[in-house]
Amino acid sequence: MPRTSTSASSEAETFRAALGAWYRANGRHGLPWRLTRDPYAVLVSEVMLQQTQVERVIPHYEAWLARWPTFAALAGVLPAEVIRAWRGLGYNRRALNLHRLARDVVENHAGELPRAPVVLLGLPGVGSYTASAVRCFARAERVVVTDTNIARVIARSRLGVATRRDVSAESLGEAAGALLPATDVRDHNLALMDLGAVVCRARNPDCEACPLRGRCSWKTAGSPAARAPAGPAPKFETTARFARGRIIDALREAPADIDELAAILPGLHSERTGIYLAALEKDGLVSHDAAGTWALA
Ligand code: SF4
Repeated sequence: MPRTSTSASSEAETFRAALGAWYRANGRHGLPWRLTRDPYAVLVSEVMLQQTQVERVIPHYEAWLARWPTFAALAGVLPAEVIRAWRGLGYNRRALNLHRLARDVVENHAGELPRAPVVLLGLPGVGSYTASAVRCFARAERVVVTDTNIARVIARSRLGVATRRDVSAESLGEAAGALLPATDVRDHNLALMDLGAVVCRARNPDCEACPLRGRCSWKTAGSPAARAPAGPAPKFETTARFARGRIIDALREAPADIDELAAILPGLHSERTGIYLAALEKDGLVSHDAAGTWALA
């Protein structure tokens, strides 16, 4: 029998109550970016967290905020300085986008992060996840936030599948939207995020410790395997990202010519140094002078 809207909303309320109680006792409330509502600080944390683990981000985040506490402070330095400060976080393009965004905000938005979602999404490096995270975590707007952890919890508990890859983004968004409370959306989304990070892990979810275990569709269905299993990840050292990171690390120390850069790259990567440099130049991370000496942009 189809669930009535009344029973669905009361079921969502029970779900939220269990989740909220768990979060109050177990949430990661002390993370430094959770102690602020400053849109700049929240944005910096979200960009740093995109592909880097929480523990590695914390010291970088604190040093960054101490050095450049506002969009204006960040906009006032050269890109090379920003790329140097990004050392250890990987995916250097994020640093450059953050710097471009700061300049855009200072030049076109009087130093304030714009509120309109469509304008926010037009800023360098801001995708739909980052925009919704800033809207929710800095401004407490009532929006769905679906990072990897939240998506996994929703996929399992509400949609009965093992991973987010087994369902469409629309289904995930709808299921997450149906759970949003009328108020305290920030805590609700943070609670889902923490549950996914700490309990409903990608591998070996700790269902016994989960506040949702009695109402989790995936658990109730006997934890069926993923329909769309992930392919094996390529070894990091074989990827272009590895080689590009090595080049940026070398140029953080000093400018160099293509032969010097090729010499620090192993095997096949060495032969592709010119290709990597061209791609890095296109991204605005490096540039070269007439003599062929490469440096950070
Ligand atoms: S019961 Fe298990 S699978 Fe379901 S939400 Fe909790 S930890 Fe995840």
